Amino acid sequence: MTQAKDLTIIGGGITGLAAAYITAKQGVKVRVIEASKNFGGLLNTFEIGGNRLEYFYHHFFTHDAEIHWLIHELGIDDKLIYKKTTMGTFRNNRLYPFNGVMDLLRFKPIRFIGKIRWGLTSLYLGKFANWKNYENVTALDWFYENAGESATDSLWKPMLDIKFGPYASKIPLSWMIGRLRQRLNSRKSGDERLGYLKGGLDTLLQALLKKLEELDVEFINEAPVTSISIDESEQIKSVSTPKGEFAGGKFLFTIPGTIIANLLPLFSETKDKLESIKYFGAVCVILETKQKLSDTYWINVADPGYDFGGIIEHTNFIEHEQYQGKHITYLSRYFDVNDPLFHATDEQISTKMIPQLKNLFPKFDLSLIENVRVFRTSYAATVCDLNFSQKIMNCKTEYGGMYIANMAHIYPDERSVNNSIRVAAEACRVMGYNNVNVPLGASLSGKIGF
Ligand SMILES: Cc1cc2nc3c(=O)[nH]c(=O)nc-3n(C[C@H](O)[C@H](O)[C@H](O)COP(=O)(O)OP(=O)(O)OC[C@H]3O[C@@H](n4cnc5c(N)ncnc54)[C@H](O)[C@@H]3O)c2cc1C
Repeated sequence: MTQAKDLTIIGGGITGLAAAYITAKQGVKVRVIEASKNFGGLLNTFEIGGNRLEYFYHHFFTHDAEIHWLIHELGIDDKLIYKKTTMGTFRNNRLYPFNGVMDLLRFKPIRFIGKIRWGLTSLYLGKFANWKNYENVTALDWFYENAGESATDSLWKPMLDIKFGPYASKIPLSWMIGRLRQRLNSRKSGDERLGYLKGGLDTLLQALLKKLEELDVEFINEAPVTSISIDESEQIKSVSTPKGEFAGGKFLFTIPGTIIANLLPLFSETKDKLESIKYFGAVCVILETKQKLSDTYWINVADPGYDFGGIIEHTNFIEHEQYQGKHITYLSRYFDVNDPLFHATDEQISTKMIPQLKNLFPKFDLSLIENVRVFRTSYAATVCDLNFSQKIMNCKTEYGGMYIANMAHIYPDERSVNNSIRVAAEACRVMGYNNVNVPLGASLSGKIGF
């Protein structure tokens, strides 16, 4: 058995690493156990054109107070970039810009009355609605009733499809309220400004890992936790991994709930709650091309028949010169992890998706694609279904010394790096490490389970 620490954190994604930073800074002796070789979880990056790029596209928002706090703590404020970005919607075989009122007026798939209804529903949800009153109604049902069929089919439904894939029809309106609040907050005079870091989120990750090393945090990688040992007094004693058994102290689990559930004894309240929350997967196909596909950063694909819901042209956000002139585009799709395509080979996935680009960009020559990479995760996000707040487990579990803080705790806000830092801070408070100076940003809730 390895020597006990005050706090053992399971999962070295941003939630675990942020919790490690907040506590180690207070003098707590911390260890982080991570299943993979690299720390960072969904923030991992690869080398491209002499720079780093995320496996899964990432940006943040102007009002994301928690991530700005961390950037400042790590002394990397000079790496922060904010840029105006552009959005588009591909509907009825045509690409429409979608960046403000004028674009809405020119958007042909919706009649005038539908546009008014779209505007009013956006305003109501984004500014006035209380999410707590809308946990038991699905967003789609509410949109069909209040925004009408054409606005829902052309705009709301594709937006839900791109975020939740096969689970789009299950999502409550409360989640949509969280999302719209966030988006409206990041718009100034109609333009959306999005944040990024020079060198990508790897800049944040490397600075954080360096700081944690200075704070004497112990890192154990390639060590998936395979069992949890609980004593007769219902106190967690240790966790086992292929690299040995680690005792504590306190244990904070930041890994997906379904994985934790498998490690718990059969009859356990925490296990039941964890099992009731499902996760869905994501695939990003990253194209490295000699030319750009479009001038738009983010395109929602609102026509049926495509194997991707979003086209995110990263180099329409960050200049392609940063990547030795390569143009970079993500084709994104969220999956039920039982979908056979999710388990297909990288080549099968890309050969299915790439030819479909010809319909969207007839002038784009597919032979200009120089390189294709495929990344996937089975834990892209939780399926936030009806009355989700009642499913969220308490951070402090029924087992003494065992705590949980993960993506589920972010609801009704959208899961993000920023909101993971917030959840990490809340968990630290619950564990009794009160010296937490993380500011509370524009969160709608952030308190469920804490
Ligand atoms: C396609 C996509 C796009 C996104 N875009 C954005 C964006 O634009 N902006 C934004 O802010 N956020 C975005 N996100 C979300 C953001 O990446 C996540 O919210 C955040 O990184 C989650 O961090 P986490 O630590 O909670 O989870 P994770 O990053 O999943 O970390 C969990 C860690 O636990 C480890 N683990 C799992 N099982 C075990 C075990 N048994 N033992 C030990 N370790 C284990 C995993 O290997 C992993 O490293 C996006 C995510 C996806 C998938």
